[in-house]
Amino acid sequence: MLTVAEARARVLAAVGAPSAPEHVPVATALDRVLAAPVRATGDVPPFASSAMDGWAVRAGASGRVRVVGESRAGRPAATAPGAGEAVRISTGAAVPPGAAVVRLEDAREEGDEVVLEGEAAPGANVRSAGEDMRAGQEVVAAGTRLGPAELAAAVAAGLGHVEVARPPSLSVLCTGDELRPPGAPLGPGEIHNSNGVGLLGLARRAGAEVSGLALVRDDADATRDALAGALVRARVVVISGGVSVGPHDHVKPALAALGVDEVFWRVALQPGKPTWFGTRDDTLVFGLPGNPVSALVCFHLFVAPALRALQGAEPIGHIVVARLAHDVRPNPDRLQALRVRIEGDETGFFARTTGPQGSHLVTSLVGAQGLALVPPGGGAAGEWVPVEIL
Ligand code: AMP
Ligand code: MG
Repeated sequence: MLTVAEARARVLAAVGAPSAPEHVPVATALDRVLAAPVRATGDVPPFASSAMDGWAVRAGASGRVRVVGESRAGRPAATAPGAGEAVRISTGAAVPPGAAVVRLEDAREEGDEVVLEGEAAPGANVRSAGEDMRAGQEVVAAGTRLGPAELAAAVAAGLGHVEVARPPSLSVLCTGDELRPPGAPLGPGEIHNSNGVGLLGLARRAGAEVSGLALVRDDADATRDALAGALVRARVVVISGGVSVGPHDHVKPALAALGVDEVFWRVALQPGKPTWFGTRDDTLVFGLPGNPVSALVCFHLFVAPALRALQGAEPIGHIVVARLAHDVRPNPDRLQALRVRIEGDETGFFARTTGPQGSHLVTSLVGAQGLALVPPGGGAAGEWVPVEIL
């Protein structure tokens, strides 16, 4: 069986060129992946500005000076202070050429004069032009997912639009005669299709544009027809259930009939051993086990990295290293992906499981902050493990 690392490497090797970029207004670009770097269109700040409310005076000035004007944010002073003169100045206002700033609290105002307590040191309380960004400087690198800070930096850099990757299209097929839509009454032996909404949520969070969600009966023809449609609609097809070897598992033969080439089937992973992956041209097809935890964990471990790579982003998300807070039963052959919450003290992070970890217990994912990846045979309290943040 393939290790998780090998399986991921094979998925990423199958990811073709990232999707074509598009030009979008900065205000709509939250969580999109930058396709071309953000560069400053000019110096930021564009002019020397005051870091304090106070008095702009000639550098080196001291003693009593006469107030001759004011520089406010957005309204620079008409003239620079000459010898023996001061200009009232606010935080963010342009500092006249050659001036230094004395803080309000370091001076005393007397009528139309000001008495400086010390000497106005050159450059004191002045933010120089370009201190934050230099014209032409790369401010955000291509491949970065744009968070609020990166959007703010892009606007400060002078941009109104950014170049971002188009979201890859993704289709989800949930197989199973037992499945009913959310909220529908259940007949004997039926359950709700909880994977559908969970997988769609993970797909959106990883930047995909969802082009379909279908329920498919455990029937060879129905499975093939649904897959044939999804393969033309989407760059990434995610199937839940039906990838095992039971008499009612039709996914693998249907994919073979549709010309999807198997890259791997089965991974040394708990939960998620029956995971299947294949390609047809540049379409990626993931057959995830139907058990709710397996489906969502395998999406996180295999599908989300592929979606990030398709947008030109770093494939693996955030990882912390933590110590297991307690013993977990070792699995001699497979890596365990435990759903954990992270606790910390001054010695570092601890990973504590959310409770019973059965692959059918969707509640084990509720409130989980990460997946602790415990290697085969591992699981002793205190062992250091990587935790992929969910
Ligand atoms: P399968 O992989 O099709 O053998 O399904 C494994 C287990 O997952 C069975 O207990 C299924 O009933 C359950 N299951 C399959 N698909 C879903 C789904 N979409 N939502 C919730 N449970 C599912
Ligand atoms: Mg099934």
